[in-house]
Amino acid sequence: MRRIAYSSRYHDALVVGPSPITGRGLFAGCAIPRRAKIGEFEGEVIPLAEARRRAAGLRIVAIVELDRKAIDARGMRTGFRFINHSCAPNTFMRRTKDRAEFYALRDIAAGEELTVDYRPSHHDGRLRCRCGAPRCGGWI
Ligand SMILES: [Zn+2]
Repeated sequence: MRRIAYSSRYHDALVVGPSPITGRGLFAGCAIPRRAKIGEFEGEVIPLAEARRRAAGLRIVAIVELDRKAIDARGMRTGFRFINHSCAPNTFMRRTKDRAEFYALRDIAAGEELTVDYRPSHHDGRLRCRCGAPRCGGWI
């Protein structure tokens, strides 16, 4: 099975740790300038139908869907599978045909938690959002 792996200065410095939003989160290990590509969602490349089968019933889903396939980051110890949702995120996820790339929406300080707006999600709006943003949408 094909796997996506990615390495860069920003990506390699990412740290997983306890998050004030929920569970574990992903944190910048160094300062990241606005618009920089931080990294990519890593994992196993699987067909969409298989991704939906795997996601059914899971509360924490480590899968990104692309046009015709998906990337499952199950088992990864670091990386973007740990990024939490925020309604006022500091990163943007750009999906291509076979990749999910993350870019900084603004300057990010070392130690800051990375967040992305991942609606619409597998939760279909049924999971309460705890991002704490002033304009939080309330549900993911
Ligand atoms: Zn929110």
